[in-house]
Amino acid sequence: MLVTSKAILEASLQGYKNGKPFAVGAYNVNNMEQAQGIMKAAKETLSPVILQMSRGALKYAEDKYLRNIIMAAAEVNPEIPIAMHLDHGNSMETVKRVIDLGFTSVMIDGSLMEDSKTPSTFEYNVKITSEVVKYAHDRGVSVEGELGTLGGFEDGVGSGKEHLTNPDEAVEFVEKTGVDALAISIGTSHGAHKFKGEAKIAYDIIEAIRKKLPDTYLVAHGSSSVPAELVEIINQYGGQMEHTAGVPMDMLLKATQYGINKINVDTDLRLAATAAARKFMAENPSKFDQRDWSGAAREGIYLEVLSHMKAFKTAGHAQEVPNWDLEYMKAQYR
Ligand SMILES: [Zn+2]
Repeated sequence: MLVTSKAILEASLQGYKNGKPFAVGAYNVNNMEQAQGIMKAAKETLSPVILQMSRGALKYAEDKYLRNIIMAAAEVNPEIPIAMHLDHGNSMETVKRVIDLGFTSVMIDGSLMEDSKTPSTFEYNVKITSEVVKYAHDRGVSVEGELGTLGGFEDGVGSGKEHLTNPDEAVEFVEKTGVDALAISIGTSHGAHKFKGEAKIAYDIIEAIRKKLPDTYLVAHGSSSVPAELVEIINQYGGQMEHTAGVPMDMLLKATQYGINKINVDTDLRLAATAAARKFMAENPSKFDQRDWSGAAREGIYLEVLSHMKAFKTAGHAQEVPNWDLEYMKAQYR
């Protein structure tokens, strides 16, 4: 079933408040096999799930193909709460476009200017985010904002310079904008090259923000684990990837204990699909049916998402997500 991110993340927040924290993974989707791989894991573990699409994904798959893939996922899995979410929206225009498509949740990343490269001012961020919140809430759609900047480059996302979110600014930002969820900068970054040395998460920042904002859903971006075994498979079968450090799963679980509710994972799915497809092609050099290697990639994604759903303790929480209808959602925001 299709629900808002707010419905899904409220279940996570209640878990935190009741001393049983779990996070919901937000997995990036660009095509049918990715959606199917993610949904197979969600169905098997009874996990609520956020399927998120970047502007790059909407361009690659075309808006309506992608929208209908997600609608199919919802139709085939009525027992699994699914949010259809825009990842890193950059403008009101993009937000309107995806809400028209039927998205139930949007992110507006006002930490960067519309080019998604230049860091913005706090005032700009408040202004664009408030406008999006007003527009989206009137239509029952939930909103994620971002404060602080993440390092890394992905789909034109990220300034390359990170600075951690200031907890007092976070309070002011949430009060002024009315966002439901807030992406905070806690030391992680986008892409496969997150850390030069050891991975570090600023748990003290999460703790301080969670204390000051007890009812806001907190989001960690750039949180792939970049499993070494996947990089090894890729390189064993002809790839040439540098070995780098991601965020280990146990550190992500610890982040949920400090109050993180949503964890964005993209790179790990890319690695899993590429590793599985490369291995399949190397071991089956005479095969040329796309269904064979795309099917192998789909299975790789399923296994990777399965491990995330278990690690984040999302498994088993599908039934806790309230099935708010659109009218109820609209009333909730007013
Ligand atoms: Zn992000």
